[in-house]
Order: sequence, then C-alpha cells, then structure tokens
Amino acid sequence: MIVEQIWTGNAYRNFNYLIVCPDTGEALAIDPLDHEKCLAAAKAKGWAITQILNTHEHGDHTGGNKAVVAATGAKVLAHANAKDKIPGLDRGLRAGDVIKVGKRVELECMDTPGHTMCHICLRAHGDNPALFCGDTLFNAGAGNCHNGGHPAELYATFANQLSKLPDNTRIYPGHDYIANNLGFTLDREPDNAKAKAMLPDMKAQDPSKPLVTTLALEKEINTFFRLQSPSVIKRLREAFPDLPEQPDAKTVFIKLRELRNKW
Ligand SMILES: [Zn+2]
Ligand SMILES: [Zn+2]
Repeated sequence: MIVEQIWTGNAYRNFNYLIVCPDTGEALAIDPLDHEKCLAAAKAKGWAITQILNTHEHGDHTGGNKAVVAATGAKVLAHANAKDKIPGLDRGLRAGDVIKVGKRVELECMDTPGHTMCHICLRAHGDNPALFCGDTLFNAGAGNCHNGGHPAELYATFANQLSKLPDNTRIYPGHDYIANNLGFTLDREPDNAKAKAMLPDMKAQDPSKPLVTTLALEKEINTFFRLQSPSVIKRLREAFPDLPEQPDAKTVFIKLRELRNKW
C-alpha cells in the first residue's frame, strides 16, 4: 500500500490522501478537497483515482468531489447515513465494510461517530497497520463536536474503538493541528515530558513533510487518551471543583472536550 499524504496549505490546514495499489496504480482519494494537488500528484506518478472516500460530510472534506469525479469518473464513497448530505454518493458504507483498491489494498470501514454522526475511519490491517481518521482523531487531539456531533459519542469511539487498535497503527488525520494540540496537552498536563520535548520541533515542522505518529505515541501525548492521568485529573479539578475523587473516564473526556472548545 502506498500512502501519499498531501498538504493543502489552506487556512483549515487540511491533509488529503491518495491510497494506492502498487501493482495496478489504482488509487483511492480520501477527502480530496485540493483536487488540483490530488489530480496532479496522481498524474505525476501515473496513478488512476478510481474511488473517493469522504470521511464525513463537512465541506472541507467533500468540496473537491465534483472536480475529481469530472476528471476521473471516480465513485464516491461515504457513510451510508450521509446519503442526503453528500451529493452524488455512489456507495454507502457501514462498519466492517471493506474498500478494495486495485489488487492488493483492502481497507476496513469503522463507524466512528462523535465529530459528526456519519463519520467513517478507514483501517489498514497487516504488518504496517494504519488509520485514516478524518476529523475524529488528530495528532495530539480530538475532533470538535459543534457541527453535528456529540461528545459522548466521540468518547465511545475513542474508548471502544480507537484505543483498542494495535499500538503500531500509523495515524493519518484530516488536518495538521499537532503544534496547537500539543499546547493544549501541556496546558492540561504541564508535566508531560514527551509533549514538552516535541513541541519546538512540531512548531517548526514543514506540514508537507509531517511526522506520522503511531497510536502508542498518541497515548503519550494526546490528552484524550490520558483520562486516568493523575495530573490531568488534578488540573481538571481546578476548572471543575465538583469533580469526584476518582472521576470516570467518560466524565474526564467530556470535560476536556468542553475546555478545548474555549482554549
Ligand atoms: Zn469536520
Ligand atoms: Zn475538517
């Protein structure tokens, strides 16, 4: 499986992706908002975009569909429940569905509500597992819930699905927010040595050559996976004095999400 991560350089800091079968050159474009860059990357490498996957219905993920379909005839895939939200949907997806790309690439669909209620993450199995997670999981952060989502659903997605993936899963999110998110991690957990050590490098990072994290690293630097951390809980109690002595993980997640909205 070839993964081409495309930095759009736009104000929203979107990442687009081409997932390519090395045998046939057939490609799946994930959220190809910057259709010009995606089409140019495919042309330069001799790849043919045959499918488009929208992780969810927001315009900064679907806005390139029309141009890519016009140029390539690609089929549009997204969550089955997004059929009234994404024009021209060819295939509605549900949990466990498999997207085949060319001969060798198979991606499993995960139904991951929270950022919106029809959000798909794609999972690649094998020796080099990967997760294409749209706006659900970001490097060192989590998606917001104020454009059609729910924090309790996002918590369930993190707790029941994402946190259970193999630790060596490479994480490919829909936006480059890592520097800002590490700032939030340190605001919530000032003694997080790993986040502190990474912040200067990530502030200086060229997003066209981004660090690809793993789930193991996310569990160290992403506050939304650190719900049992005593210093996260201690800091949270400063903002929410009524927090119980041993708050449950869901309460911690939802309060962190609330603080992140205003941070
Ligand atoms: Zn979104
Ligand atoms: Zn987005």
